[in-house]
Amino acid sequence: MPGASLHYQVEVASLHAHLFRVTLTISAPAALQTVSLPVWIPGSYLVREFAKNLQQLQAQQNGKNCTITQQDKCTWQIQCVEGAPLMLSYAVYALDNSVRTAWLDADRGFFNGTSLFLRVHGQEALPHHLHILPVASQPAWQLATGLTRVKVNTRGFGLYVAADYDELVDCPVEMGAFWRGEFTACGVPHQLVVAGALPSFDKARLLADTQKICETEIRFWHGDQATVRQTPHQRYVFMLNAVDEGFGGLEHRNSTALICGRRDLPRVGQTQTTEGYTTLLGLISHEYFHTWNVKQLRPFELARYDYSQENYTELLWFFEGFTSYYDDLLLRRAGLMDDAGYFKLLNKTLNQVMQTPGRRIQSVAQSSWDAWVKYYRQDESTPNATVSYYTKGALVALCLDLSLRIESTQEKGHATLDDVMRALWQRCQGGPMQEADLLAVLQALTGRSWRKEIKAWVHSTAELPVRALLTAQGLVIHEDEAQMAQRLGLRAVDGPTGVQIKVVLRGGAAEQAGLASGDEWLGVEVGAGRKDGQGGQGSQGGSWRLHKLDDLKSLLGPEKRLTAWISRDKRLLRLPLTLPAKAVTWRLAMPAPRQAGQWPAV
Ligand SMILES: [Zn+2]
Repeated sequence: MPGASLHYQVEVASLHAHLFRVTLTISAPAALQTVSLPVWIPGSYLVREFAKNLQQLQAQQNGKNCTITQQDKCTWQIQCVEGAPLMLSYAVYALDNSVRTAWLDADRGFFNGTSLFLRVHGQEALPHHLHILPVASQPAWQLATGLTRVKVNTRGFGLYVAADYDELVDCPVEMGAFWRGEFTACGVPHQLVVAGALPSFDKARLLADTQKICETEIRFWHGDQATVRQTPHQRYVFMLNAVDEGFGGLEHRNSTALICGRRDLPRVGQTQTTEGYTTLLGLISHEYFHTWNVKQLRPFELARYDYSQENYTELLWFFEGFTSYYDDLLLRRAGLMDDAGYFKLLNKTLNQVMQTPGRRIQSVAQSSWDAWVKYYRQDESTPNATVSYYTKGALVALCLDLSLRIESTQEKGHATLDDVMRALWQRCQGGPMQEADLLAVLQALTGRSWRKEIKAWVHSTAELPVRALLTAQGLVIHEDEAQMAQRLGLRAVDGPTGVQIKVVLRGGAAEQAGLASGDEWLGVEVGAGRKDGQGGQGSQGGSWRLHKLDDLKSLLGPEKRLTAWISRDKRLLRLPLTLPAKAVTWRLAMPAPRQAGQWPAV
């Protein structure tokens, strides 16, 4: 098809009806031209059926309507004259305030190409042109995207080009009266746009901290002398949307879409680092690390995305888990937290995995494969049936890193997980990889096989050797008495009328007593039913209303037995329950300051 081209035009059809209008011109269509909309967006492993928001599809050739036949939920076939330009037009409803789809109102516009752009079958490899029209009623709006500019105005509206369909849908677009800052990292120009922030937000601090993260990560992959010629991206755009409640991010080849809570942004005059701000920096670090680890180095099965169905891989423990290990670790290395701050975050991950009974049911390789129906479709059975490839995957990375560091002191050569990541980048030339590549790199760097460890840590449900490895690093693990919810083996939310039971954990006291997800725990009898007729020794005894689960501690005292008053389906149940003798959470302690040159600083 010499000279064939694809041209998409996007304009706002109605801000208040939340509708984008897309006009797609196919210069050289097939006689029976197929087009389809993706069912998923890479990076978020769930079939989301974006076509549900597409409406009023029309096709015209030389001013005449063409017949459109719908093939399935997201595919259409158009009868036309081969070779003459075909024009499709449709609207897309956009009111999902997440990073995965599209949003349009009077304050802001945002879209991913997977929500807006029909794929022209047979022409995916052609350059895709995109013309985004300015919004007449919103003269203050600007536009940000990772796409290559062809001819744009000073506000960023105009013509862009993508090398192919994959690039077109991997470059989300942000529009609005946002704040914009710029910096370079190792010579690579970066843009940071923030929508929805309060005026008191400390722009300079966020910009400086993000720059530190980017420089640390570029040097991680390409060395201290890294230049723009080595990086996979020639420029990069962070699009951060600040909202009242929300958190998340999605990685793209040279940009990322992020959501955070407004209160998590740093404020002018505030010098300390809040927990919320640390979490935001961790998110920035995480998504930026993906520029190498999942967008370039990527699962072999996802070398080419199939937009029409689930794309399965066992490797998300590597791409999400190892990225999760490095997101916090590189904040420490960038000087944005100290060792104690890092160990606090690591402690949280350790306890999250420890408190997930599903780790005994599912391996992280299985968890990865099943992401489409389990991790991304969480319900009350999720903690009992699954393990997160993010958190356990991060602990697999920790185990591998610490094991490598222990061996390197035994004169078998020096290698850390950093060396493994860089060697993988070299071996796979920043492209598709398999588990065998990781094993080969480990063998080459250490002179021995790591098959046994990977089999146990990744493909089985055996406990990870985190305690021994952390102890060998000079850290101490204290076992503290667990919170009441964990002692009972449940997850619950306190409420004005009672405690709402969300999850009953496998093998716990609540499960043994017969509590179920959806129950409302109204009250408790303490010491009742004892043969001596006395209340429990040291406890308050008697019957009590329950609004807060932690109140049980003072009501019970040393007493272990109680009767729970439960409301279920309008019936009242009395369920006898016995607390276990002991339940603990881990507290990681650093008895002496870490020495310079010691993990996690290097
Ligand atoms: Zn991720």
